[in-house]
Amino acid sequence: MLKIPYPIEEDDKIKMEVDYLNALSNKAKYDEIKKKLSDLEEKISSDSLVKRIDANCIQKYLSKIFIISISKMLLIKDTLEKYPSYLEELNQIFKKETNSEKIDYHYTTFQPDIRDFFQNVTNLGVKLESCFYCNISHINPFALPIQKYKDVIDFLNKASKKELKQINDIGKARAESIFEKDFKEQEELIGINKINNKDLEIIIKDIEQKLNDTQEEYSQYFTLDHFMPKAKYPCFSLSLYNFVPSCHTCNCTLKVDKFDKVIEDNISSISPSSEDFTLDRDFRFHLLYPSEKKQKEFILSNEILSNTKAVEAVFDLFALEGRYKHFEEEANEMVDKSMKYSDSNLDQISRLLKVSTNELEKDIYGADLYDEKCQKPLSKLRKDIAKQIDII
Ligand SMILES: [Zn+2]
Repeated sequence: MLKIPYPIEEDDKIKMEVDYLNALSNKAKYDEIKKKLSDLEEKISSDSLVKRIDANCIQKYLSKIFIISISKMLLIKDTLEKYPSYLEELNQIFKKETNSEKIDYHYTTFQPDIRDFFQNVTNLGVKLESCFYCNISHINPFALPIQKYKDVIDFLNKASKKELKQINDIGKARAESIFEKDFKEQEELIGINKINNKDLEIIIKDIEQKLNDTQEEYSQYFTLDHFMPKAKYPCFSLSLYNFVPSCHTCNCTLKVDKFDKVIEDNISSISPSSEDFTLDRDFRFHLLYPSEKKQKEFILSNEILSNTKAVEAVFDLFALEGRYKHFEEEANEMVDKSMKYSDSNLDQISRLLKVSTNELEKDIYGADLYDEKCQKPLSKLRKDIAKQIDII
């Protein structure tokens, strides 16, 4: 429901795409894929059965498949669908050859590099704040669950048995033994040698190492969804603009490989990485008056303004209506505050505290509401309601 804030300036965009290609080129497989793409391009170009206009399109965009926009991906898709055997050949390039029945993709080889790219993309000013599909969950790549522990001692003292056991090689008995003790200082721990038969210094180093490894593992706080599923479109499985950083619920529980006709027909308006994305403007959240007298709170609903079928399909796919019901209170709280802090009240407080009413409003409702670019969790809901009740 939110557009990925990729750079608009051409120079920044190019820099980002170069970074992405560099990330891919960490693997030798990249050159191999590029070679196969170029061979296929040549084969299509010299095929007299392929229309000139189609061959030109392939020639122009195939070699750039890793960084072409959504609209160009659709162009390649539409063009090659006229020549199914070439489309199949293209898809094959991105599939791994395996002995088993299960299909695997070269994407799995590149996944760590692509993940690193997305973690670093924030350096280029691309903020990843919440899931681009639901705008409910955080996808901040640096919010690590395990970072709640300051250091090894803190971890040893506070970690649950389950967390301790996650440290590889620690063993059940050692984890139990650590769990029962209260450690003050690392030195004391080594000096007292409470845990027999092992060199404690080595154990600590081991835990430190594992803690770091675990952090790295956990640092992937978002999942990367292929908007056009790789099972259906292997050819776009390494295309930058086909990735959507998203929460686990949206990607792994709800979307998986689902890609129905309505979604497919509306890719350009609903893919968060598309330059023609309109979904954030196609509907708005709003509050309705309670239908029953005994019900005091407003009812959270949504109003579709355009692109009806696509909006309905997205709501359906990501179960947004049900998931947003939980945030009805959030919207109602804004209404309560707006009644409490009327314009005249704000004026009075502002004079009393000698701060502008604008500053006051930011303190009351949260500064994020007044930041157009903010994409924190629930930002669309909050902004839509704020507009409805005239706060912004
Ligand atoms: Zn989500």
